[in-house]
Amino acid sequence: MYPNGHDSERYDNAEDVLWLPMTTEDFTGPCIVSGDGARVIDAEGQDYLAATSGLWNLHLGYGDHRVTAAIVEQAQRLPYATLFRYRHDQAIKLAAALVELAPPRIATCFFTCSGGTAVDTALKAVRKYWDLEGQPRRKTVFALDGSYHGATIGSMSVSEAAGSVEAYGIDRRNVQFLRWDVDADEPDVTALRARLEASAIECAAVIVEPVQGSYIRALSRAFVGELRALRDELGFLLIVDEVTTGFGRTGDLFASNWLQLDPDVMLLGKGLNAGYLPLGAALFSRRICEAFRGRDVMFQNGETQGGNPIACAAALATLGRLDSEDLLRSVEAKGRALLKGLETLQGNGVVRRIRGFGLMIAVLLEQGSGAEAPWQVVTRLQSAGVIVHAMPGGIALLPPLTLTDEDIQELLRRCGTVLSPRV
Ligand code: PMP
Repeated sequence: MYPNGHDSERYDNAEDVLWLPMTTEDFTGPCIVSGDGARVIDAEGQDYLAATSGLWNLHLGYGDHRVTAAIVEQAQRLPYATLFRYRHDQAIKLAAALVELAPPRIATCFFTCSGGTAVDTALKAVRKYWDLEGQPRRKTVFALDGSYHGATIGSMSVSEAAGSVEAYGIDRRNVQFLRWDVDADEPDVTALRARLEASAIECAAVIVEPVQGSYIRALSRAFVGELRALRDELGFLLIVDEVTTGFGRTGDLFASNWLQLDPDVMLLGKGLNAGYLPLGAALFSRRICEAFRGRDVMFQNGETQGGNPIACAAALATLGRLDSEDLLRSVEAKGRALLKGLETLQGNGVVRRIRGFGLMIAVLLEQGSGAEAPWQVVTRLQSAGVIVHAMPGGIALLPPLTLTDEDIQELLRRCGTVLSPRV
């Protein structure tokens, strides 16, 4: 019984009291009750290979004892302290570690509760930065077609959200999109200069994902080169959203490293603490934070639980795991083994193409008459014991970095059965 007299059993069994995010009623998944490594068990006892590693965030899989021990220890010592005016040791240690590991311009770290609020933090900071620098017209943030940066009002404004953005009251007056055609492997480099030069006075920043999660497609070196040259010439800031790509997902600690993105602002979430607790971070260059701190200007931003000490302790333990066990180096080999196995299905009438960057893999499906929609393939894979996400034109596999050889073989076997022509 709950204190108000309600019967707890009644609520536990009533599925309809739970309103699911990003879900339509006819496309719901099973109720998960436990996990171990890359596998989860549902309430009926069926096991699944979680090729989505949670929501692309459980980089160390389920049951990582070093992370759970750090969580328990910190919960007992100091479960909460605010960062509004005060500090705590876990936030200081984690901020120092992240700044040390981040690309060269990064000098300070602001903690949030999620990837989406890290994006909001960046959007507010860059706009206010230009205000403080005496260029208040610089409010426009350029994002790329196909981007996903979150579901808050701010982060959705720079995402190419499907459906009606206006209906949700998303304000796009200070946002513009750069072209990246659905079928193109790289964004349009030719139009980039003209677009940004034409809006130079209003351009506060450009925000990019190194590898777009919605389509699993990476920025090209040519695009990055031109973007960096334009930043030098026109003076806007470069925001790199590493919420999905960060912490080894593509084989490097940050994808900014291999793409040589050199961000002014870098956004983190998901794998930051192996997905065990809510945490995000917006990392800024010295130039940006000094614009505030040098003038003693308060940054009007923050969440009650942003940088929670337990979440930070979990992140420090995660960094220790990534550092000590050569996990990052194993990502490339695991990604290659999965790609190679999946490529044998290419052209079989169901699978059109495979594309991947480390452990971020897209299986693009044949489309057209007679072909199944991605959500139908996701449903059949689910019945075969594989959890994946649907994406435009295909399915996305982002398994934990701790995936074992046995998991890889089993995943390929289960995928092979479903992703073959039905007789
Ligand atoms: N940025 C990127 C690149 C993401 O993939 C996501 C989540 N899928 C977000 C931001 C938003 O993160 P969160 O769901 O933690 O708000």
